[in-house]
Amino acid sequence: MVLGIYVLSFIAAFACMFFFPPGALALVLIGVLGLVVFRAGGAILGWAERRLSRRCLERGTCPLCEQEVISTAGEASRWECPGCRTKFSAVGSVVPLDEAADENP
Ligand SMILES: [Zn+2]
Repeated sequence: MVLGIYVLSFIAAFACMFFFPPGALALVLIGVLGLVVFRAGGAILGWAERRLSRRCLERGTCPLCEQEVISTAGEASRWECPGCRTKFSAVGSVVPLDEAADENP
């Protein structure tokens, strides 16, 4: 699927080089601007996810399995769920397993 998109874009850009040179330039600009747009969209989605999970955690429930969470005094994690063993930071993001392991050797 992704390879097909790349092949189609290559064919379109290659044809543009001979028939409509500004079209190839426009494809490059669309690609770069698309990267910016999708990075911004990802940042907005991450912010919304952290905000929703923080709201859930402040109520005392796990955003993943809705069990009661335990407040921890760790540096990397602020809450821990005994049900799914997930740790959450103070901003509401999930603490990766290797960081959580560093905290309690
Ligand atoms: Zn959980």
